[in-house]
Amino acid sequence: TSVFVSGANGFIAQHIVKQLLTKGYNVIGSVRSKAKGEELKALIKDEKFAYEIVPSLTEDGAFDDALKKHPEVSVFLHTASPFTFSVNDVENDLMKPAVNGTLNALRAIKEHGPQIKRVVVTSSAVAVFGFGPQFDANKVYNEDDWNPVTYEQALSNPVFGYFGSKKFAEKAAHDFVAKEKVNFGISFINPPYVFGPQAYAIKDKANLNTSNEVVNKLIKLSKGEEIPVEGSVFVDVRDVARAHLVAFEKDEAISKRLLLVSGSYTLDTIANIINKKFPHTTVPKGDESRNSEITKAIHKFDNSRTQKILGFEFKPLEESIVDTVGQIYNA
Ligand code: NDP
Repeated sequence: TSVFVSGANGFIAQHIVKQLLTKGYNVIGSVRSKAKGEELKALIKDEKFAYEIVPSLTEDGAFDDALKKHPEVSVFLHTASPFTFSVNDVENDLMKPAVNGTLNALRAIKEHGPQIKRVVVTSSAVAVFGFGPQFDANKVYNEDDWNPVTYEQALSNPVFGYFGSKKFAEKAAHDFVAKEKVNFGISFINPPYVFGPQAYAIKDKANLNTSNEVVNKLIKLSKGEEIPVEGSVFVDVRDVARAHLVAFEKDEAISKRLLLVSGSYTLDTIANIINKKFPHTTVPKGDESRNSEITKAIHKFDNSRTQKILGFEFKPLEESIVDTVGQIYNA
C-alpha cells in the first residue's frame, strides 16, 4: 500500500512517515521545495520513501500533478497547514493555505485519485474547543463540539486566526464530502498541544516547532526566572502519528473526528518533571500550588469515543516531557 503524506517534513508528519515505513507502507511525501525534499530523504534513509514538490497549497490544482504521477497511492493524509502565530496577514498566511489547501487536496483526490479509498485530515482541538470569551469552564468538550469562532473574529489576530484556519479547513472538508460524490472514507484528527521528540533529529534547538516551543521556552529559562502562569491540554506526537494510521486502517474511524487528548499540564508541573529527571537543568522549580487556579481555565474533555476507536492508551505527560527534553539536552 502507498500512502501520500502532505507536508511530510513537518513535526507530526515525520512521525507519521516513520511509523508508516516501519509498518511496511510505501510513502510519497509532499514538501515545498527540492531542498526540503532532499533534506528529508537524507534524514529518513529508506527506499520506501519518495517525495514530490508541491510549492503552494493555495494554487489551483496544487496536488494534481503529484497524484497523477502516483496512481498507486490508495491513502492520502493531509497534514500540511501553517502552524504559527507570527504572521502579518491572517487571511493570506493562515486561513487560505489551511482552507484552500484542504480543498485542493480533496479536489485532486476526487479528480485524479479515484483509487484512493481513505483520507485523513489533520485538524486540531482548536476546531473543537472555544477560547477567550468563547471558552466555557463548565462544559465537558467532546467529539461533537465546534469552536464557535466566526471567520471575521478569526481575522482579528493571529491566534484566533490559527484557530479559525483549523476550524474552517475542517468544515470545508466536511462540506466537500457531503456535497460531492467521493470514493473515499474520510477521518479527522483533532489534537491539542502536541509534545514529544522529533522523529529523526533536531535541526535547530533554538527554534522548535510551535507546540514544542512551549517546553523549549522553559528550557531556555535560568534558575531564578519566573515560570509563566500557563497550562492547557496535550498529547504526545507518537500517539498523534499512530492515530493517523488507525484512522485509515480501521473502518470504525470513517467519518469520525478523533479528539486526541492525553491530559492537562501546567508549566509548573512540566518544570518539576524536568527538575526531577534532569538534576543539572537550569529550569527553575515549578510552584504547583498554582495548578488548581490555572486548571480553571483549561478545557474539560471526554474523548471516550475516540479512545474506543483507537484502542491504545495515550502516553502520560511525564514520558512525553522526559523524551522531548532528553532529546533537546542531547542535541
Ligand atoms: P510543522 O510546522 O512542523 O509542520 C507544518 C507542515 O505544513 C510543514 O510541512 C510545512 O511546510 C507545511 N506548511 C505550513 N504552512 C504551509 C504553507 N503556507 N504552504 C505549504 N505548506 C505549509 O507543524 P506540526 O507538525 O505541528 O503541524 C502539522 C499539522 O498538525 C498542521 O495541520 C497543524 O495545524 C496540526 N496540528 C498541530 C498541533 C501541534 O500542537 N503541533 C496541534 C493540532 C494540530 P514547511 O516546512 O515548508 O513550512
